[in-house]
Amino acid sequence: MSADVVIAGAGPNGLMLACELSLAGVQPIVLERLPARTTENRANGLVGQVVRMLDRRGLYGRLGGGSEPPRPVPAFVFGALPLDLSTLDDNPLYVLQTPQLRIEQVLEERAVELGVEIRRGHELTGLSQDAEEVVADVAGPDGPYRLRARYLVGADGGRSVIRKLAGIGFPGVTRDSTVSRTASVTVPPELVDPATGGLNVPGHGFVPPFMHHRTERGLFVFAPFPGRSTLVTTMEWEPGAAEDDGRPPLTLEELRESVRRVLGADLPLGPDTGPGPHLMRRLAGGNTRLADRFRDGRVLLAGDAAHVHSAIGGPGLNLGLQDVVNLGWKLAAEIRGWAPPGLLDGYEAERRPAAERVVMHTQAQSALIAPGEEVTALRRLFTELLGDRNVVRHIAGTMAGADVRYDMGAGDAHPLVGRWAPDLSLDTGDGAGPVRLAELTADARPLLLDLTGDASLAGEAAGWDGRVKAVAARLLDPAVTNAPDAPDARDGSAGSRGSGGSGDPDDGGPGEVTALLLRPDCYVAWASSSPRPDSAEREALRAALARWFGAPVTVDA
Ligand SMILES: Cc1cc2nc3c(=O)[nH]c(=O)nc-3n(C[C@H](O)[C@H](O)[C@H](O)COP(=O)(O)OP(=O)(O)OC[C@H]3O[C@@H](n4cnc5c(N)ncnc54)[C@H](O)[C@@H]3O)c2cc1C
Repeated sequence: MSADVVIAGAGPNGLMLACELSLAGVQPIVLERLPARTTENRANGLVGQVVRMLDRRGLYGRLGGGSEPPRPVPAFVFGALPLDLSTLDDNPLYVLQTPQLRIEQVLEERAVELGVEIRRGHELTGLSQDAEEVVADVAGPDGPYRLRARYLVGADGGRSVIRKLAGIGFPGVTRDSTVSRTASVTVPPELVDPATGGLNVPGHGFVPPFMHHRTERGLFVFAPFPGRSTLVTTMEWEPGAAEDDGRPPLTLEELRESVRRVLGADLPLGPDTGPGPHLMRRLAGGNTRLADRFRDGRVLLAGDAAHVHSAIGGPGLNLGLQDVVNLGWKLAAEIRGWAPPGLLDGYEAERRPAAERVVMHTQAQSALIAPGEEVTALRRLFTELLGDRNVVRHIAGTMAGADVRYDMGAGDAHPLVGRWAPDLSLDTGDGAGPVRLAELTADARPLLLDLTGDASLAGEAAGWDGRVKAVAARLLDPAVTNAPDAPDARDGSAGSRGSGGSGDPDDGGPGEVTALLLRPDCYVAWASSSPRPDSAEREALRAALARWFGAPVTVDA
């Protein structure tokens, strides 16, 4: 066996998976067909719960988030309609404006720190598998060779070769009538409103920054990123546009003409004078597709290899990076031999509904930005609905992926169970001052947090010593409220339970929590609010430990 796990693709999702596996004690080999990191940027930022997830791995600051914990944004945009999040006391929408190139750089550095072997210029070209192993054919710089592994993960993007070689279908729809044009540009400084950073376009009017600005003829976005190039994007609807792939590369003049059509006014765009790379991108058409399986025997798919959709609202890495955080520890448990039955299949059971919700909200947003009077009417109705805080909360929770509630089985009576663990400020008794939960989860280990005050629960994890970390602490901020729950995210919610409703603001919330069992992906597997958890609760805790972290090891008396 050459490796326990081979990952095809050193994009953000492949690299993050490599980090997660490594933290869980399994060293993968990452194959990347490109000889060097790409210089063409795609994502301009991370949107949603993934920002907090990266904080829980100690990566938020490294990705440019600063030294303070992440804070939700006061405003965002849904289908080119403004979302006022400032009135939500439980706002779930976090944004980190870090370009994908930087995300890939940071994740690669982290993977290398953790000892991961990344082979650049090595392309996976074929695979076969049996009950014991996967054999990957690789074309490397020194010629072809074979790798044998227990598992292979295709994190090789939307056109995934692994998905095709494994015979996994990719059903969905292709939209062929849109053309988006994006370039890094300069705009005359006198057109920029110093108070808002927006653009005053003579003959058209004011365009706010970072907002999708819809007109009857298309979409316009002005994105003056601080410290890096300003991006201007247009989107137009041109029937059959995707078929015309013989066009020469995008020019500034073509973008200017597109802006003229969309805004009905001239905007004197100049070339980017920054250090580069200078973006000039035309994308015609787009796909919304979901793999019909995320797993075929010893082959798994993650990230864009498993799902593609419109980039509107920036949901791609929120979905993909949380896929791999869900997958990493389960795959490592399988390899290390303690995975309970069905744990690895839980990856698809939990993440497919999340992907389906991203498909749903990106398609809904695409419908809301299209031209046409009917769409304008639909937008008016949506604007009325967005006057209701509960609607805003629901949409924000959907975009953030914060409405996920996983099915944790019998022991999920507590409102926090199945949900993303709330941020907590703790005193761990070592005199070091307040400790954030995020500091305890950076090692990606299962965590039993005993907040009873007498550390009486921590001993329950003794049989899982080495797998589960037990920490006794005092809660410094007892007003525990969980990440918000969209009020009616119950039917068809991202959570596979499909019902429940606890965590709903109307349920009054979980109150003071006295113990939590967290999976490595920071979802709550068991929780208590009893000052002294009784024997039935302790039994439920042991059942949750066994359900997620395998059979206990016998402890000598
Ligand atoms: C224009 C645009 C804007 C976007 N904006 C945002 C945004 O603002 N926010 C956001 O979250 N998301 C955004 N996205 C989506 C985001 O870029 C993707 O979700 C993300 O790149 C997916 O990461 P990945 O690791 O799954 O795949 P990729 O990034 O595609 O990486 C796959 C890697 O696999 C390698 N590979 C392919 N085949 C093989 C092979 N056979 N062997 C070895 N290696 C192979 C490729 O070279 C590549 O490096 C945007 C996408 C686009 C196109």
